[in-house]
Amino acid sequence: LFVVFEGGEGAGKSTQLAALADRLREQGRDVVVTREPGATAVGERIRSLVLENAGDEAPSARAEALLYAADRAHHVATVVRPALVRGAVVVSDRYVDSSLAYQGAGRTLPVQEVSWLSSWATGGLKPDLVVLLDVDPHTGLSRVESRNQGADRLEAESIAFHERVRYAFLDLAAADPKRYLVLDASRPAEEIAEAVARRVDEFLVD
Ligand code: C5P
Repeated sequence: LFVVFEGGEGAGKSTQLAALADRLREQGRDVVVTREPGATAVGERIRSLVLENAGDEAPSARAEALLYAADRAHHVATVVRPALVRGAVVVSDRYVDSSLAYQGAGRTLPVQEVSWLSSWATGGLKPDLVVLLDVDPHTGLSRVESRNQGADRLEAESIAFHERVRYAFLDLAAADPKRYLVLDASRPAEEIAEAVARRVDEFLVD
């Protein structure tokens, strides 16, 4: 089972991911918690390249898309596929949809091309379930700022950028409702965790 958490900045993905992983482990399952970008040694270096070179030093939009795709290709080949093959539940913080939303809609690269790039990188591996934590960018960014996590880099993007990202995620979910669980990230964390648990349980009845 391959579950992905997606959402804009400050959506609470890490909290929900940890809650789900704890629950699955309590059930005695083999769980692999992972993330993009940066789950591997190669990925860590790619993450620094894309996230630490800001302003004039920032990679161009196409270079950025290729770097995320390279991180993903390596992540899928060395972490995600081997774990799925041995029967583990893989829970990832971000996956292909983040590229469609950020590099596609956000940076205004043709979404179809970014999608093709991701398919090539992953060999077509799709998640069984995508949990989309939907957050209004104003709320999300203020949560991130209060934690002071990469606030400068995020402020460099306009609200319009974050709005495009948000609506790209929502459009992806609307186009494939069976594969998505869309939750309002402003609801209490326990309620969100409960909704996620219920949906994941449907996959795990054995
Ligand atoms: O989820 P996390 O906060 O670790 O992501 C780090 C940053 O990477 C996010 O702020 C997001 O803007 C960026 N990102 C991106 N494109 C992706 C994945 C992440 O721009 N495909």
